[in-house]
Formats: sequence, C-alpha cells, structure tokens
Amino acid sequence: MPNVYLVTGGTGLVGQGLAHTLATEPVGSRFGKATEDEEWHFLSSKEGDLRDLKETMAIFDKYKPTHVIHLAALVGGLFRNMKYKLTFLRDNCLINDNVLWAAKEHGCVKVISCLSTCVFPDKVTYPIDESHVHQGPPHESNFGYAHGKRLVDVYNHAYNEEFGCNFTSAIPTNIFGPYDNYDLEDSHVIPGLVHKCLLAKKNGTPFIVSGTGKPLRQFIYSRDLAKLFLWQLREYNEIDPIILSVGEKDEVSIKQVADAIVKAVGFEGEYSFDTSKADGQFKKTASNEKLMKYLPDFQFTPFEEALTESVKWFVENYDTART
Ligand code: NDP
Repeated sequence: MPNVYLVTGGTGLVGQGLAHTLATEPVGSRFGKATEDEEWHFLSSKEGDLRDLKETMAIFDKYKPTHVIHLAALVGGLFRNMKYKLTFLRDNCLINDNVLWAAKEHGCVKVISCLSTCVFPDKVTYPIDESHVHQGPPHESNFGYAHGKRLVDVYNHAYNEEFGCNFTSAIPTNIFGPYDNYDLEDSHVIPGLVHKCLLAKKNGTPFIVSGTGKPLRQFIYSRDLAKLFLWQLREYNEIDPIILSVGEKDEVSIKQVADAIVKAVGFEGEYSFDTSKADGQFKKTASNEKLMKYLPDFQFTPFEEALTESVKWFVENYDTART
C-alpha cells in the first residue's frame, strides 16, 4: 500500500509551496516524492472545518492518511492578532486538538505541525533557539495565537508519552512566496509591500514604507521551506521542534527588503520611509544551528531570486491572488 500524505491548510502559502516542490523535484530525490505511487492530498477549508471534530474525523475517514503535514491555522497580520486574541487562541486550539486526535485515532505514522517564531518569549536572549519555546510569556500583541501554537508542542510530547505517537513540529521564521496573502491591510511585510509597490508603479504615486526600515528579519522562501518539510517528514525523528530558517548572517533589514522589492517590481518613482509609523520589534534573530547540524549542505534560494519569483507570480496571478 502506498503512503498517503494529507496536507491540512493545503491551499495556503506553505501548502502550495509543498505542492510545487513535489511537482518539480524528481521522484526519489531527497526533497521530492519517495515513490511514484505515493498519494498527496492538499486540503482546503471547503472540504471541512477543522475546528469541528466530526468534520475532521470525516476527512480522515475519507483519505486514511498515513502521514500528516498539519499547516491549517487561523493566520493573520499583527492588527488582526491584536484585535481578536481569543479567536486566534480558540480556533487554533480547536484545529490542533481535532487534527492531532484524528491522526492518533487513525493510527497515522507521523504528523508534523507548524509553529511560528511568535511562540518564543518576548524577553529572550538572542539568538533564539528551540530550547526557549516555553521559557517566558510571548509578546503581548499576539499572545492568543502564540499560546495556541505553543500548546502543539505540549500535545506532541503528551501524545508521545501516552500513546507512543510520532508527532513533531517545525518552527519557520517569516515565510514568503507565491500564494501568499497579498492584502494591503492584513498581510505580512513582504506581500504587503509588494502589493503596495506594484500599485504605486501602476498609479504613478510614491512608494512609502511604514517605519524606519531598520528592523531585521529572517525570511524563508516557501519553496525552500517545502523541501525542509519533506526532509523532516522522512528523516527527522525527534518530538521536539526544529527551527526551519536561513542563518543569522542572512538576516535582512526592512530597507533591504524594500530595495529588493523596488528592483523586482521595476519601480522608478519616489520611494521613502514614513518614520512616524511604528517599527515593531527591532529583531527576533533565530538560530538555525540545529537544522544545519542535520543538513549542513542545504542550499537556500538567494533572497533576491526568491523575491523576484514571488513578484512575478503575483503580477501573473493578480486577479486570483488573495488581495
Ligand atoms: P495561509 O493563511 O496561507 O493558509 C491557511 C490554510 O489553513 C488555508 O489552506 C486555509 O484553508 C486553512 N484553514 C484555515 N482555517 C481552517 C479551518 N478552520 N479548517 C480547515 N482549514 C483551515 O497560511 P500559511 O500557509 O501562511 O501558514 C501555514 C502554517 O505556517 C500555519 O500553521 C502558520 O501558523 C504557519 N506559519 C506561517 C508563517 C508565515 O509567515 N506565513 C510564519 C510562521 C508560521 P482555505 O484557504 O481553503 O480557507
């Protein structure tokens, strides 16, 4: 019987990155399908609401997965996170509780769930590593989402201890790529700025970036992340989470991001920073040392190349992209 892989949240940024990687990497390669006959199913919320246990069980009854990559989550930008803390906590807890229970009940061999660097304590020493997850309260602005995600690690250990389940998790840093949410108000920094810059080019208006441009961030391309998920699925055997990120030296400032966007979009108009707007945390540097011990030769796509591909995708799919 071939293995059956179920990707919850399969229609989103990360899920579509996985679909792309599986379609383009050769079968049998380290980051591709292991065998031609393995089955992959990418779930949309249209197939069932994972906040509902009955609907979740029905999905698992239908596909009978042997493995699950659990990406589905209520995800949002800072504004929505601040405004709807209970909803972010409750929806994500319900989704995670149902998916992990269904996976256990259906005897799934392995589940990888997706955390986020928001789980880390607000007051922490840099670089952040996997041992910091539960060492202090997360940032106040998104504590609902952060605690919901932290609990996944608690679940994974409890499932392992009580039922011997092989459930683990990944902690990606900021992700970007095709199929991102390019909404102007409620998106992450890269897709939001790409959309803004494209509109400035189209309308002949200035491109104004909020803040000083000085904060530093680590960004991972969704298609690189997909390869790392496939590696983790097949070769990583710890219950503890692993940070999936570019290294500390590849941290970039928001100004570098904006410069790269201006170049990729081909914007030649007026471009400036609105320093009256808040910057957010100056940095959240995470260590990818654990990942590099496992995969020392992994080649990340150069930032500008990945950004150019993402911009190209957005331009070509403007009418159907999430905006
Ligand atoms: P997206 O917002 O792009 O996609 C979310 C996915 O979850 C969609 O497929 C959506 O389905 C599905 N979904 C949401 N609610 C439900 C529900 N109630 N029932 C069923 N499916 C649901 O998310 P990303 O791809 O950006 O994120 C994937 C994972 O990565 C998440 O767990 C997120 O927390 C994590 N992450 C993301 C980061 C980022 O920078 N984007 C950074 C770090 C971690 P549909 O579209 O069909 O409604």
